Amino acid sequence: MIEPGGYIKDILGKSGGVSASAHGWVKTRRDSKGVSFLQLNDGSSFADLQIVIEAGSIEEELLKHVTTGACVRVDGDLVDSPGGGQTVELKAKEIYLFGEADPTTYPLQKKGHTMEFLRDIAHLRTRSNTFGSVFRVRNALARAIHNFFQRNGFLYVHTPIITASDAEGAGAMFGVTTLDLQNVPRVKEGDKKGHTDYSEDFFGKPAFLTVSGQLEAEIFALSFSNVYTFGPTFRAENSNTPRHLAEFWMIEPEMAFCDLAGNMALAEKFLKSVIAEVMDTCAPDLEFFNKRIDDTVLSTLDHVVNSDFVHITYTEAVQILEKSGQTWEFPVGWGIDLQSEHERYLTEQTFKKPVIVTDYPKEIKAFYMRSNEDGKTVRAMDVLAPRIGEIIGGSQREERHDVLVEKIVGQGLQLDAYWWYLELRKYGSAPHAGFGLGFERLMLYLTGMKNIRDVIPFPRTPGSAEF
Ligand code: ATP
Ligand code: MN
Repeated sequence: MIEPGGYIKDILGKSGGVSASAHGWVKTRRDSKGVSFLQLNDGSSFADLQIVIEAGSIEEELLKHVTTGACVRVDGDLVDSPGGGQTVELKAKEIYLFGEADPTTYPLQKKGHTMEFLRDIAHLRTRSNTFGSVFRVRNALARAIHNFFQRNGFLYVHTPIITASDAEGAGAMFGVTTLDLQNVPRVKEGDKKGHTDYSEDFFGKPAFLTVSGQLEAEIFALSFSNVYTFGPTFRAENSNTPRHLAEFWMIEPEMAFCDLAGNMALAEKFLKSVIAEVMDTCAPDLEFFNKRIDDTVLSTLDHVVNSDFVHITYTEAVQILEKSGQTWEFPVGWGIDLQSEHERYLTEQTFKKPVIVTDYPKEIKAFYMRSNEDGKTVRAMDVLAPRIGEIIGGSQREERHDVLVEKIVGQGLQLDAYWWYLELRKYGSAPHAGFGLGFERLMLYLTGMKNIRDVIPFPRTPGSAEF
């Protein structure tokens, strides 16, 4: 029987004088006179286990195949290590070769590959130091997020991935269909004549991959008070930026009995909590990022955990940008949507810490955000972070039935598509608020990685879905 467990992480926590058995992939091999050293890693920790093979202890023919990339099990004696860099090492008595890796073709034979090259070998990049750390941090971040919400009494709700109402702005949505694209059924008569006949499709109407679980999360908030989603979302926007993916993960808390101020307070508490937890559980990985990827990672994270976020209104933000004397690619004026260059200026130049911008013009924000008394702005908030720009977008929701009807109609949307959303305002409505956090945006922040394609296992971007 081969059981899971026996991680290198646990072996490294022991002291010498016991026998041990480790499996993993050979990261490097170094031969010197009379002895060979392997760095063995099984993904359980940043640190490798050093294997010492004394000449004659392992059959030569077998040892020839134990090269970088090979998968082995090593049985031997754990001894206190005389060399620096590790406390124990494993003196090999027996080696089982599970899978060799031909050194003449193994792509990770040498170090120092570009991120672009590694992206093309997403089936192997997970064995590199960088991606080992990325995905351990990703795991720790997911756990920290669940921990935060569970500790605070939030219910985890699984909102649907396929949505049949095109309620959220169909422009950027992927269609889901079982219709034969070579032979699409057409409507035979009436004013829709010639259009695709979706009554023959799987759901009897057009269906899409979700862009957000918010509207469904609101249903749950208005029964369970505090809830959150954590799932994949999809956007067919053709934006080839280092911050956008076509498939990404989103965390969306939704709180009944909560207003914009409460929403801001939760967002700040949440970010500080999850960052602190990852710093606590993944210290060696974060140190690696700080050393090899971006030497401001640790100081920035420390700063975020220990500083109060700045609160400004959109109107104040525009004034700061107008007075900045900067030349912008996208000119600034009241009413514009803040672009990444503006967001980064506010967080990196003006305040040098995370900034929450609130009360945006209603024209540039979604219909469901609560209207302010001025008639011009809505209770929206964006949390902006140095280096990344927008990391969270949220709002207090419009809970007044009649106002919401006006807003839907005013934005030229179809009232009947929102029938259930409106009924929530008819039966037991409550003030409520929530936000959406892009999981991979927060990953960029934690790791200092430059491209969002390098913090998700298998990135989906325009023209690319190989793995
Ligand atoms: P942006 O202006 O950066 O495109 P957005 O206004 O479209 O963001 P929202 O609709 O508010 O974003 O989505 C909530 C959060 O999801 C954002 O704050 C961001 O963290 C993340 N996000 C949005 N689009 C993407 C994407 N294509 N890839 C990865 N994360 C995204
Ligand atoms: Mn967007």
